[in-house]
Amino acid sequence: MKRIKIKLGIIGFLPFAFNRKKITKWKSNLFEIVDDFKKYHINAKSDTVNWGYSDSLLEKELPIISDADIFIGITYVPIEHNYYARRLNKNRVILSYNDMEEIISNKKFPIENLLLRVLYEYSIIYLRYGNRIPLCTEDTNFTHDDTRGCIFDMNGTLSDIVFSLHKPVICDVCRDNLRQENISDNIIKIAKKEIKRIKKDRYYKISDFIKKKPILSLLISFFVGIILSIIASSIYDYAIKYFIEKLKVKENIEKVETK
Ligand SMILES: [Zn+2]
Repeated sequence: MKRIKIKLGIIGFLPFAFNRKKITKWKSNLFEIVDDFKKYHINAKSDTVNWGYSDSLLEKELPIISDADIFIGITYVPIEHNYYARRLNKNRVILSYNDMEEIISNKKFPIENLLLRVLYEYSIIYLRYGNRIPLCTEDTNFTHDDTRGCIFDMNGTLSDIVFSLHKPVICDVCRDNLRQENISDNIIKIAKKEIKRIKKDRYYKISDFIKKKPILSLLISFFVGIILSIIASSIYDYAIKYFIEKLKVKENIEKVETK
């Protein structure tokens, strides 16, 4: 299968740490990231309420690519209607971390998971719409308003995004819709398998488990403590026996030699 080529850019200043390698080294059979992120400045002043940038303004600010299928730019400025992603002309997408950065960090998810999720979402949309990204002004129906932990959740309430940042899914309804839109079972299977790798870090998973089940966590740590102390005392006994035996052997040798 020919992979979708995606170029990435950072639009303006990102006031938080972002692990670009986590994205550029991500292995996928659905898409390939072409080159590293490129940085672009925002030259124009905001043109919507709340210091946001409209689609038409961003279409002028973002680069037009010719050596990839899709361009996705990440930014921190607010975008039209305070969405977190907007589809622009010429197969370009703008992803805004404004608000999202705080929502994602507060829930201890890796900040990069949002972009990974969006890479799968828009790769499938690109195929579904005949190798193009439809504009926001087009009548589309690839999202659902209720939140299912699916990469096609609408997330009208921005904070709902966290439900699709740890092992997101393609729900059964979306799978059926994709089949009707002639997306092959192979592509759906690849995407479903790969999005399971979008996960929360292990440390925070353990921390979440402790918060959710404090008594069970206490019991586990109690029994683990007992098992560890049993193992430690067994090792200690074995070591003492070993050294005593060694000393005895040494003494016997010395006695034989003095006789
Ligand atoms: Zn769905």
